[in-house]
Amino acid sequence: DLFHSVVVVGGGAGGIAVAASLKARRPDLDIALIDPADMHYYQPGWTMVGGGIFSPAETARTMASLIPAGVRWIKAAVAAFEPERKAVVLEGCRVVRYDRLVVAPGLSLDWSGIDGLPETLGRNGVTSNYRYDLAPYTWDLVQNLRAGRAVFTQPPMPIKCAGAPQKAMYLSADHWLRRGRLKDIDIAFYNAGAVLFGVKDYVAPLMEYVRRYDAQLHFQHRLTRIDGPGRRAWFTRTTGDGGTETVETDFDIIHVVPPQRAPDFVRASPLADAGGWVEVDPASLRHARHPGIYALGDVTNAPNAKTAAAARKQAPVVAHNLLLDMGYLRGDEVAYDGYGSCPLTVERGKILLAEFGYGGKLLPSFPAWLIDGTKPSHMAWLLKERMLPPIYWKAMLKGREWMATPRPGPQGAGKRAA
Ligand code: FAD
Repeated sequence: DLFHSVVVVGGGAGGIAVAASLKARRPDLDIALIDPADMHYYQPGWTMVGGGIFSPAETARTMASLIPAGVRWIKAAVAAFEPERKAVVLEGCRVVRYDRLVVAPGLSLDWSGIDGLPETLGRNGVTSNYRYDLAPYTWDLVQNLRAGRAVFTQPPMPIKCAGAPQKAMYLSADHWLRRGRLKDIDIAFYNAGAVLFGVKDYVAPLMEYVRRYDAQLHFQHRLTRIDGPGRRAWFTRTTGDGGTETVETDFDIIHVVPPQRAPDFVRASPLADAGGWVEVDPASLRHARHPGIYALGDVTNAPNAKTAAAARKQAPVVAHNLLLDMGYLRGDEVAYDGYGSCPLTVERGKILLAEFGYGGKLLPSFPAWLIDGTKPSHMAWLLKERMLPPIYWKAMLKGREWMATPRPGPQGAGKRAA
């Protein structure tokens, strides 16, 4: 069997950031990172690709170029966790043992959870910013639509970047408005949930844009079936008395966000909670039942917004607490406050910068005179367009913890770790 002191599962936003963060604190630590992917994607850029602002290539890097120096890359997929013997099993049955484990394989997009979707994706006006190869198709469709019906869907929570389904709608509508076509285009947003956005402070400013673009909102409508060539979509609507009915609509273009769940090998493992997500303590990010295991990113059951912004704040918390636990640091544990961020692209050139933690508490990174997160601003757009990509590639994935220094946890309030 292979053995490494620390094994990180997944080389996405959370996995690369935590490996870099561990190396920054402890350069001699023996770390292996397991991920089968050749490429790593900056998924927050895909909304911008779908809006014609970023090129797809700007959102992709080779995995090899991002694995921190000194970290061993095991290019394979993990198939199972065996916490009792401190091991993970790779596909093909190779075993990797560890002293400490960090779990960060993200979530699974369940495209086939919608009947008829896989066979029509990327054709017949059916698109999604949730896939690298399809986000450019969104922009093609938006540019080419002169008149007709544009439908946008949102699946049940939890999903990654809960604002992304409506961001696609606003950027598309803004383009049609500027081209004078909006009067000939009907926009409808079908949301499986009951509210436009989970933190109420942002709902009123978003509703202003919904009115500006004259978008029809349909809540508690879950997309279940799509007929691409026939240009029809079916939804299950939950009625007030708890019953359901089927609602049908036609479309010229449809932006679909697929249902999302924990990856199967996580759901089937002893690390999962009843919902399938990795069960962590929401503050320390340590596994709730298995010592020596941590998790971050989209795969955890912590009730934060599943965003790369959350992973940016979680990575140093996991790195610190794990090294403390290994005896490499002294002092107190640090706590993650649930920070997540969703830059809502309400129009080209303006963003409503939603930043909040556990319980929907607003956690602005900037003073209100610079960026007031409850008002759309050009400054927030510049942050998203010009600053967040370099912050991601050059700071977060390099273990330079700009804007992400962890605070002492509840037990250690006030005291700093050595
Ligand atoms: P990921 O970054 O998805 O990485 C998971 C990694 O695990 C992948 O490299 C994968 O290959 C690997 N993996 C999977 N299975 C296995 C296995 N069996 N064994 C080993 N490795 C495995 N976030 C924001 O902060 N702001 C935004 O504006 C924003 N917008 C978004 C817009 C869209 C359209 C999308 C799709 C996402 C957006 N996000 C945004 C969310 C953000 O991209 C994710 O929250 C973030 O990438 C989560 O990081 P992660 O490391 O948990 O998962």
